[in-house]
Amino acid sequence: MSGRYHKQMRAISLVLAAAVAFGAAAQPLPDLGSAGDAVLSPQMERRIGESIVRDIRFREPSYLEDPEIADYLAGLGERLAQATSGTRHDFEFFVMRDHTLNAFALPGGFVGVHTGLISAAETESELASVLAHEIAHVTQRHIARMLGQQEQMQLPVLVALAAAVLLGRSRPDLAVGAAAAAQAGAVQATLAYSRDFEREADRVGLQALEAAGFDARAMSAFFERMQRSMRVGDDGSMPGYLRTHPVTSDRIADTQNKAAAMPYRQHLDSAEFHLVRAKLRAEAGDARDAVGHFEASVRDRRYALEAAARYGLASALLRARRPGEAQAQLKLARTAGAAGPMIEALSARIQQAQGERAAAARTLAEARERFPRSRPLLYAHVAALQDSGGNARAAEALAEAVRLHPRDERLRSLQAKGYAALGRRFLQHQAQAEVYALQGSLPAAIEQLELARRSGDADFYQLSVVDARLKELRARHAQETKDAKR
Ligand SMILES: [Zn+2]
Repeated sequence: MSGRYHKQMRAISLVLAAAVAFGAAAQPLPDLGSAGDAVLSPQMERRIGESIVRDIRFREPSYLEDPEIADYLAGLGERLAQATSGTRHDFEFFVMRDHTLNAFALPGGFVGVHTGLISAAETESELASVLAHEIAHVTQRHIARMLGQQEQMQLPVLVALAAAVLLGRSRPDLAVGAAAAAQAGAVQATLAYSRDFEREADRVGLQALEAAGFDARAMSAFFERMQRSMRVGDDGSMPGYLRTHPVTSDRIADTQNKAAAMPYRQHLDSAEFHLVRAKLRAEAGDARDAVGHFEASVRDRRYALEAAARYGLASALLRARRPGEAQAQLKLARTAGAAGPMIEALSARIQQAQGERAAAARTLAEARERFPRSRPLLYAHVAALQDSGGNARAAEALAEAVRLHPRDERLRSLQAKGYAALGRRFLQHQAQAEVYALQGSLPAAIEQLELARRSGDADFYQLSVVDARLKELRARHAQETKDAKR
């Protein structure tokens, strides 16, 4: 057996020990310590989280690259995070195409949400209640405190451990490799947030839910439904969420009582909530089935929002390569009140499918004037310009956008693609280096900067900028290599 295997098994048994210790501390009086007690620094926590997200992104086919859905979750999450007490945190939400009901918080404020959870939520308040609970796990530093106990551990092991604790329950092989998967599987039931952490996340999450203007009763309602659905999963297994966040009758009663003491508040679901759900349904499974699903719901008027049902039908028709009919449905969606960036973006996609590339770029340019803050529209517009021979204009728009959002990897990536098309090799490699740096692949970033230096189409000023950046990245890489060996 390799040494790596043993280290991983040691890591798993340490988590087990920690989980058992938390359980024992639960009686009679739990001592969670204060949020400031964690041994793990916020920087280290962020790096562990980044590294797990990178792994998921590049190794998990179910990772969903959809800026519109990510943008919606980011807005919803931001609203809840603003209302949450505790440590200030940057949050990043990502989506996994997975029909199981699950959401999980990683160290450093990364929150993964399964599409199954978004589809199962009957109201926006229900979806918000799960996000609020996850956000609370982060702001209360539960994960940091669990991992903080693992002193003297090498960074890669800590990363594997965090992944095993936080999402390895459903996919232990992802975190620890096939060899350890069986053992990890055997212990997975034990690896869950402690009851005290759950109670605290419920309490803090519920307050945030209420303060952000959502219906606080949605939390217990959603938990109850999840608990009821426990045995009806396709494979008869427990939804992932219930494994990591055990829902007990106590918890449901507790959140019910607390919500009952809050002023009643009706929350109107946003149109985006319904559009996002419709988009997910339109893109799941067989395209013809999706068309059939939305045709039936429009025909029988079985929908929460007609505009969203018609948007879903238009999306499904586009997927089924019927763009003419998609366009007609989108028009009906507008008549029913549909408006906003997602509607304009679909309109442009339909035009592209009909071969009208320049028209699509114009649609997106106009949409951006009406919704200048929409990042998904910006991406779509720049890509449409690049697609329709407008590379120079795309490069201008990108240069300005990158100044505003220097840490936006998608913008850098579009930039690299555009510069490549324009034959600007220096700028291409420079942009690509930033893509890799943002992904955390420092050696690849350094290599791109070296290619940029040798490209032969840079001036003196550009070369000195690259030299400074090279120096910075090499120092950071050396430091991280040192940290990992510590
Ligand atoms: Zn929880």
